[in-house]
Formats: sequence, structure tokens, C-alpha cells
Amino acid sequence: MTESVAVHPLVSPWGRFGLYSFFIDAPEPAIVDTGIASSPAEGMVPALAAIGRRIEDVRWILLTHGHIDHIGGAYALWELTGRRAQVVIHEADAPMLRSRRAHVDEYLAGRAQYLDDPDGEAKLTEATNAVISGEMEPTLLVRGGETISLGGDVSVTVHSVPGHTRGSVAYVINGQNDVFVGDAVQVHGAANGFPGFVDPAGYRASLQYLRDQIRPRHLYLGHPYRRADGTPYGVELDAGQAEEALQGSLEIEARVNSAAHDCWSAGLQGSDSPYSPFTRVAEDLGYEGDPALEPSPFFTTLNGYRTTFDRMTEDEEINTHG
Ligand SMILES: [Zn+2]
Repeated sequence: MTESVAVHPLVSPWGRFGLYSFFIDAPEPAIVDTGIASSPAEGMVPALAAIGRRIEDVRWILLTHGHIDHIGGAYALWELTGRRAQVVIHEADAPMLRSRRAHVDEYLAGRAQYLDDPDGEAKLTEATNAVISGEMEPTLLVRGGETISLGGDVSVTVHSVPGHTRGSVAYVINGQNDVFVGDAVQVHGAANGFPGFVDPAGYRASLQYLRDQIRPRHLYLGHPYRRADGTPYGVELDAGQAEEALQGSLEIEARVNSAAHDCWSAGLQGSDSPYSPFTRVAEDLGYEGDPALEPSPFFTTLNGYRTTFDRMTEDEEINTHG
């Protein structure tokens, strides 16, 4: 490749979060992640106009994962392209693009067990109606390993990086090693100050893969994730910052893993602590954030460890008795 392809962050605010999409200025332009329903018209259209580009020319909508703040604007953006853009998502997260209800079902099966909010289901149903612009069938399902041409000599390769969600992917611009990971690299988390992932082993392996195999020249994050001291990274990291953020993410995961394991070994006990039944984990880590604040990464993550440990115990019992 003779010339590098420009990448422009596109920002739209949402409550406590800034929502970040990235415009890849290729012959067939691409946008990575779409914010929520209002983001394409209110955030992307003016931001693209400011750099002399038009949203109707976008040909690829590359989704890093299925969470509402990343896929919420997908249908609206697709409409603004005259339905001509290809919409790409991992098959494991595709149900979250197809169905608002999938988000509610995931909530009920996971963190809702700990939140004890009788209105939780209704609130999340209302949120999915408000922030997801439409249910749709993706036009291209991926599993990792695919290479997508963005016209000319520009291409991106899809890498499976499960953990934050089962279908999280990274998109890598070939030849310049710019890497878009959505929320697959969390460091100490965003506004809640805790990293969120459903599959701890997958999260760890994906971070190691990104650090050791991909080695980003630039790393583009889905939110301004925080360091241990609470100061945020930006969303566009250079090679040195990327390595530091990946290493930092692995270190906090190891600490959460150890605290979760100790808590589980001692036996989970319900109490009226807001962190119950993982009070001991919050104490070990010195975590003082509000664990109930949606999207409740504290409970999402600890439910992930709990599920892992439960499965290990079942395997041991099968080995002992079977
Ligand atoms: Zn996410």
C-alpha cells in the first residue's frame, strides 16, 4: 500500500458515555460501530460533512459486537446509505442486531439475578425501544479470519476476540495495523470503573492475542477506558499506549479472577450489601462503584466467573463419580 488510509473518530454523546464510531476513508468508505438510534443523523452526518464526506457514500457498517450502544444506530445508518451498505457482525452477536428482545433476555439470564429490580425488565425493554433504531438481518455474518476489501488496495481482516461478548471481533486495516476493538479491551472499565465481560477465559485469551500476535500500531477503543488511577485513555491509542492498555487489562483481569476465586471458594453468601453475593470481591479489590448502575459490569463479569467455576466443579464431580 502506497498511502495510508485515514481514520476519523465520530463522537456522539449519550448520558454518562461518549459513543464512538470510526470512519475509515477508503474507496468504499466504512464506519466501525454506530452508536444509538440518534447517532447517525445527529453525530455522524455533521462530523462527516466537516471532513467533506457524505454518509450516503458509506458502503460498510462494521460492528464490533452486539451491545445497544454499538448497534443501536445500525438500521438508521443503513437507511441513510440507501440500504446500500453491507452490515457486518459476528454470528454469535447477530441475534442482538435481529432482535431487541435478545438484549432483555440476556439481561434476565445474567446480571438481573443480582440487581433485584422489579422494574428492570420493563426499563430495559423501554431502553431497547428508544436506542435501537431498527431490527435487521445482517448482510454479512463473520466468525473471524475473513478479509473484506474496502476497494482499491484497502482491506480489513476480521479477528475473533470473544470475552466482552461471545461475538466480539476486532477489525484490522491491513498494511497499517490499525485495530478497532470496540469494548474487547477494557482496562479498568468506563464510567462504572469495572471491566465488563461475560467470558473471563475468552477475554484473557483475546487480550493476549491482541498484545502478542496483532500488536496494534493504533488501537481504537469503544469508550475512553480508565487506568488504575481513574484517568481515561483517549479512544485512539498509539503503539506504546496500546501495549500498556492491553497489559493493564490483563493485570486487572488477573486480580478480579483471584478475588472471584477466593470469594467462590469461601462460598457465596447473600447479604444486604449492594455487591451481594460478591461482597468479598468488592472488598478485596477496593471497588466502591455503584454495582447496580447499568450496564452493571460488576455483576456481568462476576456472573461470568461464577459460571466458569460452577462448570469446573461439575467437571470435577463427573471425573470423581463418573
Ligand atoms: Zn459493549
